[in-house]
Amino acid sequence: MLVLTGLILTGNPASAQKLYAPNFNKAWIQDQGPFRIAGNLYYVGSYDLACYLITTPKGHILINTGIPGSDTMLRRHVEALGFKFADIRILLATHAHFDHVGAMAAVKQATGAQLMIEEKDAPLLEDGGNSDFDFGGHGRMWVPVTVDRRLQDKDIVELGGMRITVLHHPGHTKGASSFLFQVKDDTRTYRVLIANMPTILSETKFPSMPTYPRVGRDYGYTLDTMPRISFDIWLSSHAGQFDLQKKLSRAKGYHPEAFMNSRPAYDSAIHTLREGYLKKMRAL
Ligand SMILES: [Zn+2]
Repeated sequence: MLVLTGLILTGNPASAQKLYAPNFNKAWIQDQGPFRIAGNLYYVGSYDLACYLITTPKGHILINTGIPGSDTMLRRHVEALGFKFADIRILLATHAHFDHVGAMAAVKQATGAQLMIEEKDAPLLEDGGNSDFDFGGHGRMWVPVTVDRRLQDKDIVELGGMRITVLHHPGHTKGASSFLFQVKDDTRTYRVLIANMPTILSETKFPSMPTYPRVGRDYGYTLDTMPRISFDIWLSSHAGQFDLQKKLSRAKGYHPEAFMNSRPAYDSAIHTLREGYLKKMRAL
């Protein structure tokens, strides 16, 4: 895959097409070895773009796919952990931006998995992101892909004994969502939050935009709701948001404790985002 300014050319000639890329960061394609986070939860993403594999006896769940072309990396990571890529049954995403859903179409095609996303982000997945309220209007940012199930707040996604609760955290996109679930190992159960942190894009205008009239209210709701979630392990859409590299440098091998006790860092990240939100609201 080749990334040019504002343009991604997918490597597969069969699906070769020009895709618009609003921005690019080298850490999005920099390699990161896959590893087990806790219980049946694994990290299969890149250095910064977090993708998560949850394995079950009935097949696997993949959350996020990185930028277009990342399907090759995902397959390599899943196989390196000893799992079959073709066993992925469900695809989820924290939000429909090209750095998280770029390879959804390719992964769906390779696995036949069911694609599920919060209903307000479903149109974006199906039009390649062209209707995005901030980045839209420049053409497709990824290969359009059909959504099989439209999720809503508090919906449960189930597979092979796993129950994942969808938490709608709108603002960053209209359908941005976090996921809450439990995984276990021989020692204990871990309550895991994969949080979609409500970062505010410079293009977003408060309190309202013609393409997203309730954007200010949605951010307010999300920033009020997120501090009330309880969890043992905090993860998010970008590895940098929860300091993955620092955690890995302290822990070699299977080390779920490295991801625990992250409440203060989570609270402080939400606090900083709230300050930014209030500042932008006050500047009106
Ligand atoms: Zn995003």
